[in-house]
Amino acid sequence: MADSPKRVLLAAPRGYCAGVDRAVVTVEKALELYGAPVYVRKQIVHNKHVVTTLEKRGAVFVDETDEVPEGATVVFSAHGVAPVVHEEARALSLRTIDATCPLVTKVHREAVRFADADYDILLIGHEGHEEVVGTAGEAPEHIQLVDGPDDVVNVTVRDPDKVVWLSQTTLSVDETMETVRRLRERFPSLQDPPSDDICYATQNRQLAVKQMAAECDLMLVIGSRNSSNSVRLVEVALEHGSRAGHLVDYADEIDEAWFAGVSTVGVTSGASVPEILVREVLELLAARGYDDVRPVVAAEESIMFSLPTEIRRDLKAAGKSDKMRHDASFAEAGSLH
Ligand code: SF4
Repeated sequence: MADSPKRVLLAAPRGYCAGVDRAVVTVEKALELYGAPVYVRKQIVHNKHVVTTLEKRGAVFVDETDEVPEGATVVFSAHGVAPVVHEEARALSLRTIDATCPLVTKVHREAVRFADADYDILLIGHEGHEEVVGTAGEAPEHIQLVDGPDDVVNVTVRDPDKVVWLSQTTLSVDETMETVRRLRERFPSLQDPPSDDICYATQNRQLAVKQMAAECDLMLVIGSRNSSNSVRLVEVALEHGSRAGHLVDYADEIDEAWFAGVSTVGVTSGASVPEILVREVLELLAARGYDDVRPVVAAEESIMFSLPTEIRRDLKAAGKSDKMRHDASFAEAGSLH
């Protein structure tokens, strides 16, 4: 095996999605417009490097709204918040900027709509994840969490003919379909969401990994441990034939022992990961002889979201640009950690 040609399969799409890009630029523009500090409730996106970089520019990350001083500016993260959080912010007279990804907002709206029609809503997702807490908060009396296929036995509903499932946006597509299959066995009239809740970015990143996993001796996924979609990419790689798979925040977390007998390394990154971190991993691989890099393209992405209304309004009033700069703001950051 030591003499096998060394190569890298590089997944595309990978890294930043439109919702993350929008959320990160929202914090940058808020700092530009209002000056530091700008408070951010929870991590704006689940990536250590992004959070550390924004902290250095004056963002202050807090866990709860009541940690923000009265009258200050607070940004709500891409994962979304429950209505009660907006109420808390109003009570503290905070200037709020909502960076919830529009695709998460779509799921919130579905939840409200089905709750208004008095459905039991089965929300497939991971217990305690911020997105799930936010979505469930839209209609707590109608929503129950289903945390994977094995949780289906615990579900009870009022009327089996009036049940719908919704989901967190960053789940494993295959595991979610298995959960739905088991739910439907119990509730044959179960309704599907009006459109896919697992977002395009999650689906495309998993698709690319599926296409290359069987050829990989090692899959390196760049992403943080609290990033749901990144963790799923490691699982998908292992399920689809990669002989090993690891999640790393930075290139320097890669263990040399992982390369023993490895010919083909797969590389991808979660939806909250700036490309600079992928480049650092590719440089490390090249230095070890893995310099033949072949892209595996599963889909093309061109989605972009405009900035939140509050920011666009204030940028316009200040005569500043509201253009998005895809992933560029971290390009010069290098190894900041
Ligand atoms: S992963 Fe999907 S839902 Fe989450 S921020 Fe990105 S586009 Fe939005």
